[in-house]
Amino acid sequence: MVKPAHRDLWLRPITCVGIADGHIKLRAPDRYHKEWFEDNFLPSILRDLEVRAKRSFTVAFEVTQDEYGEPLLPLSGSSGGRLGALSVPAAAGPTPVPAAPRPELVSRYTFDKFVVGPTNQFAHAAARMVADAPASRWNPLFIYGGVGLGKTHLLQAIGHELHQSHPDWVVTFITCEKFVTDFIGSMMGQKRGVTTMENFRARYRKTPDVLLVDDVQFLSNKDSSQDEFFHTFEALHRDHKQIVLTSDKLPAELPGVEDRLRSRFTWGLIAEVETPDLETRIAIIKRKAETDGVVLPDDAVLYMAAHIKSNVRELEGALLRLAARAAFQNQPITLELAKDALQKLISLAPSGLTIEAIQREVSVYFDVKLHDLKGPKRHRAVAHPRMVAMFLCRKLTSMSYPEIGSRFGGKDHSTVISAVRKIEGLCATDPSVRSVVSTIESHLRQP
Ligand code: ADP
Ligand code: MG
Repeated sequence: MVKPAHRDLWLRPITCVGIADGHIKLRAPDRYHKEWFEDNFLPSILRDLEVRAKRSFTVAFEVTQDEYGEPLLPLSGSSGGRLGALSVPAAAGPTPVPAAPRPELVSRYTFDKFVVGPTNQFAHAAARMVADAPASRWNPLFIYGGVGLGKTHLLQAIGHELHQSHPDWVVTFITCEKFVTDFIGSMMGQKRGVTTMENFRARYRKTPDVLLVDDVQFLSNKDSSQDEFFHTFEALHRDHKQIVLTSDKLPAELPGVEDRLRSRFTWGLIAEVETPDLETRIAIIKRKAETDGVVLPDDAVLYMAAHIKSNVRELEGALLRLAARAAFQNQPITLELAKDALQKLISLAPSGLTIEAIQREVSVYFDVKLHDLKGPKRHRAVAHPRMVAMFLCRKLTSMSYPEIGSRFGGKDHSTVISAVRKIEGLCATDPSVRSVVSTIESHLRQP
């Protein structure tokens, strides 16, 4: 039963902005409300609605704040920076270089909010060093490690720091994905005569004093983008501009990336971020709770830190969930509440299976690349294994639909729901599908 006070806090902010052809569009003020709604209400509401309307619905969310629920801080667009100087009339000097895209940094991704422990100490020190003395020694700095371990945080912390210390510099932060789409867009634009590659090149090769590129593994198997990135790297490096890169793998282990690029990635310093140890996890939870104004008793902190081990993002998610639950039930956080609220996150299915293990097994079975399984491709050879994997994730772990969707490259929960239904249906009617699913399941259950 939802108390009126909590209805106001959590439900009222969710609004419906349209329903058409079985498609419902909802709006949430931030991703926390969205996720909370998806976890706590959406499945039952959908079920109810579908029974009454005798049809299925898909649901899409519009989130009105950025994905971090925080205002974004524009960097190189700030006054006093070089962009201001560039906007003088062209007649006053040589043709101005086109402005860099406004790099956006999340305001809380700063060094002082980063908790240092044995598993990230080196990467943190390397990042600080580069921020203190850019392009003097370690160029590029290459930070690598698994998801949710603070790579983007460190990369952006360097950006914040350099913006402070060199306000006249253009600090360009970009995700590798954006670099690639920008590149492709510029090429297409050039063909249609609306943009030129020269603009693109000025933006990345000439304008930046510092280039921060997040998730370079995205270049994998993208030949022409890699070529462009190679020349961007060369130009900046030659001009002694600091480059910092993050990746989920070591340069040598990046699949589908040319040797000449991989070797350049090793020219400077390589630093790894690893899964934090217990003490660091405790410190991170405490720091985060303090920042968010959440009161947490020590036993609840320890419980969370002891059970949520894989990465910092999950720790943050757990804290959020717990705080939401406490607010919802209008009670302080206790160990009991923590156990209750986080049970779903912590207790994997009896099998102890993880989404990653299921994805790996399915990709081996169908001979589909893991990358494609989590990617956007829609043809049957990939889409069918993906649906099977989603189905098994739902069946064999206690993850919610939104959680599963997010682990498949950020897919919507409604995609997961329809995949699960589809495979359920096929298992009921098609013995070959049933046998494939049960074979994979038995592989997974083997110790
Ligand atoms: P990655 O880029 O490695 O996937 P992120 O940098 O996005 O990970 O980190 C995920 C979340 O965890 C972010 O909200 C980040 O602020 C937080 N985080 C990661 N490491 C730390 C740390 N050492 N101290 C404090 N917060 C951290
Ligand atoms: Mg990241």
